[in-house]
Amino acid sequence: MKNENRHEAKVIKIAELTADIKHFWLQVQDGNSFDFKAGQFVTLDLPIGEHPKDRLRSYSIASSPNGNYVFELVIMHLKGGRASEYLFNEIIEGDLINFKGPHGKFLLPEKIESDICFVCTGTGITPFRSMLQHLEKTNQQHKNIFLFFGTRFMKDVLFREEMEQLQKAFPHFNYRFVLSKEESAEYKGAKGHIHQLYENEFADKRPADFYLCGWRGMIDEAKIRLKTMDYSSKNIHQEIYD
Ligand SMILES: Cc1cc2nc3c(=O)[nH]c(=O)nc-3n(C[C@H](O)[C@H](O)[C@H](O)COP(=O)(O)OP(=O)(O)OC[C@H]3O[C@@H](n4cnc5c(N)ncnc54)[C@H](O)[C@@H]3O)c2cc1C
Repeated sequence: MKNENRHEAKVIKIAELTADIKHFWLQVQDGNSFDFKAGQFVTLDLPIGEHPKDRLRSYSIASSPNGNYVFELVIMHLKGGRASEYLFNEIIEGDLINFKGPHGKFLLPEKIESDICFVCTGTGITPFRSMLQHLEKTNQQHKNIFLFFGTRFMKDVLFREEMEQLQKAFPHFNYRFVLSKEESAEYKGAKGHIHQLYENEFADKRPADFYLCGWRGMIDEAKIRLKTMDYSSKNIHQEIYD
């Protein structure tokens, strides 16, 4: 890792979001300003391997730029994954972590001229949480904004209350989620896969920009479906996690 953009951060808070997803608050320690854009990621340098490339893992920033030194990450525990095991079993509040960043070009346009559709599964919601907080805070002009989230069970829906609150307070923001495996009688919401949400909403093929975030399988499938709907590559933006 070069020195450029290299920082040290203290883990000031850890919270459990689901059985296998944790929310980390990091405070940058080195006194340089830590500026980032909503949608960017950081690369953690963890003591989990000898070679730099074995130690580096990237994570989207889950919070919006706020002018102070604290930012948030939301991380899934991949069983047996080296960074996952370290972050879930070793790291405690007060520990220091090295990281590089911010990086990334998964950003909103400076001027939003058409509908925006965020499509994500699991921790893929993180850059969108950052973008939504940023849009709300800065009052940037926008058209309709959709956040479509897919997961298997109700217990895995991330930031549900927060997104439902935001939907009440933030004009033109629509939040919907879909569950692929939930069988409980109490659940009366949408069942199935993430793809049906944007296919239904944008069946009229009106101008829109699609932002896809998560694991490769979901993103590849969404790109094929959006292209079949005649959306062009320039309106499809992606952040792939693997
Ligand atoms: C730009 C970017 C942003 C990212 N942001 C986040 C984020 O916000 N939150 C987050 O949890 N992760 C995020 N990731 C993924 C993260 O960088 C790691 O890949 C993840 O934490 C697994 O690392 P590990 O060391 O635990 O597993 P490893 O030991 O590196 O992984 C073992 C193997 O499992 C595969 N794998 C990893 N996760 C999954 C999965 N869920 N499903 C199927 N296969 C998988 C890997 O490709 C690898 O082949 C991001 C990745 C990138 C590139």
